[in-house]
Amino acid sequence: AQKRYADLRTVAAEDRSGQTVRLMMNAGLMADLPSLKSSGADGVGLFRTELQFLIRSRVPRRGELAALYKRVIDAAQGAPVQFRTLDIGSDKVLPYMKPQEEPNPAMGWRAIRVGLDKPGVLRMQLQALIRASEGRELSIMFPFIAAPDEFHTAKAMLLREIDREAALGHRVPCSLRVGAMLETPSLAFAPDSFFAACDFLSIGGNDLKQFFFAADRENERVRRRYDTLDVSFLSFIELIVKRCAENDTALSFCGEDAGRPIEALTFAALGVRTLSMRPASIGPVKHLIRRSDLAALRGVIETARVRGSQSVRHAVTACLACQ
Ligand code: PEP
Ligand code: MG
Repeated sequence: AQKRYADLRTVAAEDRSGQTVRLMMNAGLMADLPSLKSSGADGVGLFRTELQFLIRSRVPRRGELAALYKRVIDAAQGAPVQFRTLDIGSDKVLPYMKPQEEPNPAMGWRAIRVGLDKPGVLRMQLQALIRASEGRELSIMFPFIAAPDEFHTAKAMLLREIDREAALGHRVPCSLRVGAMLETPSLAFAPDSFFAACDFLSIGGNDLKQFFFAADRENERVRRRYDTLDVSFLSFIELIVKRCAENDTALSFCGEDAGRPIEALTFAALGVRTLSMRPASIGPVKHLIRRSDLAALRGVIETARVRGSQSVRHAVTACLACQ
């Protein structure tokens, strides 16, 4: 199987009727970057920036971060890299941060909420990213955006930092893509003006699913209780696809489910045409897409829904067996 996947490295994830799906990889360390080539990923769809903050006993310095981000962009050799700004709090606790006594950390003071309330670290991280770009394209996404004003404020902060860096004589990105992670159901119902201001949205399925079903992703008793291919969740994904299409906002899915072949195929059939996953999943997902017909699969999903199935898993799996 490894050899079969290796042979697929240089071919597109194209279904039998010529529909292509962009497969990107998730990363968080410099050591992940060689996988870009070995997996055949089209870029880094999610670069988690928490690790550099978690491994030290102090806040990393701007110069250290800029050097790392530059090495990441260099290693990508022109392939896109979407950096996610710091997502701490909840399951990711920094050793040097005062522990927060919160009854529900996953719904607490985390991610962009911390970044906006105490902007020092976020600003420093944005400066490091701008410097690391050295005039190349830069893609940044903000985590856990639950309301449009959080995105607008964070984006304004980024634009201010770019002006400031330019005034200091540093090169600034030749083009900038600013996006948000869609991890709370509320964001799918934001006004069109939010979608229009967003260059791209990435569905953080791990968090989105936990809030959609109200099932803690850290709790073994409930984390597998609800199927990702539940028709309610898929209808919600379809709503996001529709809103993005109407507003010309690029869309991807970067939670762990994007790396599960049946889930990946289902999302692609529903119109999510960029998936970001761990590198080892790229081969298996690509293999399955290449033997499938996404339009036919969409028909099968629709039929299962009309019949009243709670999950389309059985229908999708059966369809694959006969394709
Ligand atoms: C997610 O929530 O799906 C996601 C990609 O972010 P993380 O797993 O880092 O919370
Ligand atoms: Mg998340």
